[in-house]
This record gives sequence, structure tokens and C-alpha cells, in this order.
Amino acid sequence: MSDIRDDARSGFAEVFDTEATGVWSAPGRVNLIGEHTDYNEGYVLPFAITRRTIVALGLRDDTMIRVASAFADEVAEIDISELSPEKLTGWAAYPLGVAWALGQHGADLGAVPGVDLFIESDVPVGAGLSSSAAIESAVALALNDVWQLGLDRPALAQVGQLAENKAVGAPTGIMDQSASLLGERDAAVFLDCRSMVAEIVPLRLADAGLAIVVIDTGVSHSHADGGYSERRASCERGARMLGVPALRDLSVDDLDRARQILDDTTFRRVRHIVTENQRVLDTVEALRTTGPRSIGELLDASHESLRDDFEISVAELDLAVETAQANGAIGARMTGGGFGGAAIALAPLDAVSRIQVAIDGAFAEHGFGQPEMFVVSASHGAVRE
Ligand code: ADP
Ligand code: MG
Repeated sequence: MSDIRDDARSGFAEVFDTEATGVWSAPGRVNLIGEHTDYNEGYVLPFAITRRTIVALGLRDDTMIRVASAFADEVAEIDISELSPEKLTGWAAYPLGVAWALGQHGADLGAVPGVDLFIESDVPVGAGLSSSAAIESAVALALNDVWQLGLDRPALAQVGQLAENKAVGAPTGIMDQSASLLGERDAAVFLDCRSMVAEIVPLRLADAGLAIVVIDTGVSHSHADGGYSERRASCERGARMLGVPALRDLSVDDLDRARQILDDTTFRRVRHIVTENQRVLDTVEALRTTGPRSIGELLDASHESLRDDFEISVAELDLAVETAQANGAIGARMTGGGFGGAAIALAPLDAVSRIQVAIDGAFAEHGFGQPEMFVVSASHGAVRE
């Protein structure tokens, strides 16, 4: 099997008719636990996965930036001095948006040489594994290196987020880029979304004889935009009515008072965020002491809370989770923004194929489309290869 780094180099040579001067890569991510907590200034716990996006880069002697991808037919190009969010469209808005965003973070784009970029990836697109953060982070690290900008990784994560928010137009937080840039092998990234402080937490799956199975239901997030802003508004209303700057400032002990003050729906939205933040803290503590075999109940409880209190699961996600649990998973939950997308199951290695077969069968029985399943483990963040 040819390595995707080689594919990126040969793709570059084919499109640009010269050899790449360097190759960079960045991983996709899975959020282990901590869902919808980011915009409530709470905690998330993603990890970088063993699927990566590769950028092969060559310097030019003019000021053009050209991008090509195995994923797309056309080569997009623009003069560096012309970069602005309004001019960027389609997939090229991700890499070119990063170049623009570097300028917003202090890079002098008037003083840097043009580049050619070729992108190759084995991160599935739109499966909830953040192929978007992978491409942003790989391009951000590559340009930071060759343009000698000296930005640190937290700053590069902000660059990726800015590109996604302004050039692509997706209102996403900083979790995905943080995982892709700060992730380490056999570790998760514990991110405090208020202070932006990130800590590395051990996630030694293989040592514990475990793997994480990602089950992409293939259900597209059709209510995702409306549902996301509606949930966000509920959280803001809850915080306002309870007199705190963000739901992050409440603990489980505050829930009795919250129940007195809030309507039932707002209360349940609030209860999800408050208990989910606590579950992230408990997961971090468990990973640091007893290890990944002891986090199963926390994953299960997260799913129940997302399903019943936050109400963002769908039948396919519930079926994936229940089938995994019934076939040997230690814990399982939907992951990502909800209304479709993927679930994860933490499972002993010897139960993985049984779980996959059972989920395939259960989906067929219910008349659901065939899900895609991937086994992932915790990998290192963006690097120059
Ligand atoms: P995901 O859950 O995978 O992050 P998004 O919709 O956020 O889904 O991002 C996917 C988009 O990112 C793609 O539609 C494409 O525009 C861009 N993208 C991701 N990976 C690549 C790639 N290898 N080459 C070109 N564009 C990519
Ligand atoms: Mg994305």
C-alpha cells in the first residue's frame, strides 16, 4: 500500500511539474467527551487520530499561491496581496483562508514568497472527524515554517479557526484545531475553553487492550444549523436567568436552584452542560489514575444526557450506541454537534469486529443506510514529515 505522503509528493509533481520542497501533515480528531460545552466556556477532551491530511509544498519565485487537492479537479490560485475572505470559495477557502488568517495574526504577507500546495488526505470528509481542521492545521504549520513566521501552536489553532469562521463562514470553536495541532500520541487534549489552557492527558488505549471505533451513520446534519443556534440560545438564556457569565460557572450543586427558576426545556439544556462539564473533569481524573477502562460509564452517561436533556441525537446514533453497548463495548456515545454524524464506542480489541458486524446488521434490520466504521487510536499532532 502506498503511503499518502508519497501520494502527496507525486500529486504535487504531477500538477506543478516540479518536486515539492517539503511535506507537512496534521490529523483529524475525535471528541472523546465534552459536547456543546465549548461555547459555554467549559471543557472538552478531543484527541488527534491516526488519519491525516498531508500538504506537499513548493516555494515559487513570484507572489502567487496555488492550491490543488486529490479531492478536487481544479487548481485554485490567487496573488498573496489579493487574499481576502470574500474572494475565497469552495474547498480552496480552507487553505487560502489560512494564508489570509496568518496575515491577520501579524504575518507580513507583503514580504513572503509565493507557494504551491498539493493536498492529500485519508481523513474522511464530513464524517465528524474534522477533515476541515486537518487541512487548516497542516497548511498553517507548513506556511508558518516556510514563511518563518514564528507563531506558536495555540496561535496557529486560532489561525485555523479564523479561516473557518471568516473565509469558509462556519461558526466553529477552537477544539478541532487544538486537537490537530496540540495532540500527542497516546494522549488526549484537555482544553479549558475559557482560559484556552490545554493539558495533555494520557489515553493509553493499546496498553489497556482497547480501541475506539468510530461509527459514521452517514446521516447528514440536516437540522444542524437551526438546532445548533437554538441550543446555543437556550444555554445563553439559562446563564442569564441564573445570573452567571456562562454555564461553565455552575456546578451540579446549582441544579436544584436552576430547576426552580427555569422552564423545563431550558433546565434540561442547562443540566446537560453542567453535568457534561463534570463528566469531562471525571474522565480526565480517571484517565490520570485508573486508565481508559474506567471511563465507560461516563461515555454512556454523556450519550443519555445528549439524547434526553439536550435532545440532539437521532435514531441512527442511538442504535449505533445501544448495539455497541450490547456487544461488548465498555462505553459508547454520539460525538460531534448532533442531528446525525458519528458515534464512538470504546471497546476491548477482541470485541471490535463483533461490534462492527452487529451494527451493520442492526442498521440493515432497521432499514438505515450502511454506516462507515473506522478504528482509531490517539496519534500525534501536526508535524513536518
Ligand atoms: P468535517 O467534519 O470533515 O470537518 P467539514 O464540512 O467541516 O467536515 O469540512 C469538510 C470540507 O473541508 C470539505 O467539504 C472540503 O471543502 C474541505 N476539505 C477537507 N479535506 C480536504 C481535502 N483533503 N482536500 C480539499 N478539501 C478538503
Ligand atoms: Mg469540520
